[in-house]
Amino acid sequence: MSLDFDGARLPNPYLTEDHEAWRVQLRKFIDSELMPYADQWEEDHKVPDEIFPKAADVGMFAVGYPEAYGGLTEGLDVWHGNIVYEELARLGAGGVGAALTVHGISLPTVLKLASEEVKQEVGPAVIRGEKRISLAVTEPGAGSDVAQLITTAVRDGDFYVVNGSKTFITGGMYSSWASTAVRTGGAGLGGISLLLIPLDAEGVSRTQLDRKQGWWASDTATLYFDNVRVPVGNLVGNENEGFKAIMCNFNLERMQLIVSMEASARVCLEDAVKWAQERMTFGKTLSQHQVIRHKIADMKQRINATQAYIQVCSKQLMDGTPNAGDIAMCKVQASQTLEFCAREAMQIMGGISYIRGNRVERIYREVRVNAIGGGSEEIMRDLASRQYGF
Ligand SMILES: Cc1cc2nc3c(=O)[nH]c(=O)nc-3n(C[C@H](O)[C@H](O)[C@H](O)COP(=O)(O)OP(=O)(O)OC[C@H]3O[C@@H](n4cnc5c(N)ncnc54)[C@H](O)[C@@H]3O)c2cc1C
Repeated sequence: MSLDFDGARLPNPYLTEDHEAWRVQLRKFIDSELMPYADQWEEDHKVPDEIFPKAADVGMFAVGYPEAYGGLTEGLDVWHGNIVYEELARLGAGGVGAALTVHGISLPTVLKLASEEVKQEVGPAVIRGEKRISLAVTEPGAGSDVAQLITTAVRDGDFYVVNGSKTFITGGMYSSWASTAVRTGGAGLGGISLLLIPLDAEGVSRTQLDRKQGWWASDTATLYFDNVRVPVGNLVGNENEGFKAIMCNFNLERMQLIVSMEASARVCLEDAVKWAQERMTFGKTLSQHQVIRHKIADMKQRINATQAYIQVCSKQLMDGTPNAGDIAMCKVQASQTLEFCAREAMQIMGGISYIRGNRVERIYREVRVNAIGGGSEEIMRDLASRQYGF
């Protein structure tokens, strides 16, 4: 038993030799093709385009998607997907992971609910790493309260004419499509549809939100739609049933964030432990000071609890019985664990952790996007209490 990234993983009864082989294959790629450059890409605010097909070649984008669209499902389960997010978190550069896996929050819904023609157009191109797809729900005036969105799509023959804007859209600068929540009906959640908008369509413009606290390597955009004509065939699911369509991927999206947060917390533990064993103060290593040992123990305690909770939620997903309330609470558990571990790792590492170019410094700046994006802690608690019948 040790406190490095792998040693700090609790025994997991669901992992097989096949999962471990998948981890080894991914790690080899990540360590050679991503790890040496992650810090530079953060500073450049971009992951180079040529990395996407390379990541696709190792199968990173295919896991869990139907084989008819270039995906891989045979012999794979929820843990193969979790391992992708866990291994990417070792970079300590959430922006690189967010850029590479942005399709994870929109492609599953498209491949479930769009027309066959749209599925064939989008699925293989994204899974091969040739094109990207974003999810565009948030607007300047509507974040957590999706019912308030005002981007309209008005039917005109075989087209919808879209007007409005979306903001905070991950991948929005370079994606080919945005799966977009639009108002096709009356007020409230019942008047929303999900429409796949090609981002090279006439009337679409985009601006980069490039002064973020963290996730620099991931582009985040505001999208503007000015009389954009989108074929009716690009509807994802039924008209005015868009909220249901968006919700059908929430559990998976949250699990991706949860797994990534737990693994990022473990990166903080690994780097803090390594430093504490080397750094001398007052004639001892930091690890010989009881206060520091207790910080490490507190981090591990929270990481253990999060891992155990992930095992429970992943098993529910494997059994086809996910519990949205449990997943929502697991997301809060993970973001609080990440917040605590990033803080304590910085305290243990002292001034060096404040200088750009190390994993803990980057992770510290990524805590809030994880605690707010994909459903904020407040919204998650409220959702869970309602799911639990309160
Ligand atoms: C880097 C980044 C990437 C993102 N990527 C995407 C993306 O790809 N696609 C996309 O659609 N969106 C994306 N988002 C947007 C994200 O989903 C929203 O920021 C989030 O849903 C919260 O919405 P808001 O920021 O408008 O906050 P608001 O909804 O205005 O809420 C503000 C605060 O009030 C709290 N609050 C709101 N309502 C309640 C309530 N009823 N009770 C108690 N507290 C409440 C919230 O928890 C929050 O802390 C991204 C955001 C960031 C920062």
